[in-house]
Amino acid sequence: MSHIHIDIRKKTYPARDGSGEHLAIRDLHFELAAGEFVCLVGPSGCGKTTLLNLIAGLDRHFEGSIRADEGAATLRIAYMFQNPRLLPWRTVRENIQLALPKGEGREWVDHLLEVMGLTASQNQYPQRLSLGMSRRVALVRAFAIRPSLLLMDEPLVSVDAPTARRIRQLLVRVWQERPHSVLFVTHDLREAIALADRLIFLSAPPTALLHEVTVDIPRGEREDETAVEAFRRRLIGEHQQIRDLL
Ligand code: ADP
Ligand code: MG
Repeated sequence: MSHIHIDIRKKTYPARDGSGEHLAIRDLHFELAAGEFVCLVGPSGCGKTTLLNLIAGLDRHFEGSIRADEGAATLRIAYMFQNPRLLPWRTVRENIQLALPKGEGREWVDHLLEVMGLTASQNQYPQRLSLGMSRRVALVRAFAIRPSLLLMDEPLVSVDAPTARRIRQLLVRVWQERPHSVLFVTHDLREAIALADRLIFLSAPPTALLHEVTVDIPRGEREDETAVEAFRRRLIGEHQQIRDLL
């Protein structure tokens, strides 16, 4: 597994009113270590989705580079969007299997369905599923390709709190089972602290990297909301900019 070097010098969009350019990201540099779980925290409109699209290679119109030590070709990227984006005319199983070369990975998918509590739902169609279940299906689909880098764009927005907690636990469990790098975007600081090895804070536009911090709460204690809350209070107590951000 390789280190990933993210170096965005400039990303612009055509301005929506047709007058020139809108500067979305300028001079954003950071690295992701192999197997590291990083949460990217920033306010709405600061360019988080834009950044994930650049890293995923969905948008190649930018100045800068996304580089892996062993070459970008070795990166196997899975992208979990904010919306699960399941095909309504395919079953759960088919939606997942579509991400894979024909017939491959059946046992791994069986295992993931089991871990996510979806075995009994694998032949259902997406419209029959709750939002929490749809998110779990999207997570299985992302893990199915055995990514070396998993990108997640606020995947738990509008999921109720107990369901979101359960999905976070499952996410960490599979991540620990099969180490890979994760870049998880959220604007929920508690969620970020519960999940990440390291937090990266982005400012409101013009977007800049505000602060980075290692989360040193042992993995076994992340379920403890008081530990997470104590960390959060210390963080916002020490950093005015983070308090202002959220
Ligand atoms: P975030 O995900 O952090 O909320 P986005 O990456 O979606 O932010 O957007 C960053 C900025 O770029 C915003 O000001 C947004 O309006 C603008 N933007 C995003 N996509 C486009 C687009 N396709 N065309 C023009 N402007 C865009
Ligand atoms: Mg976004």
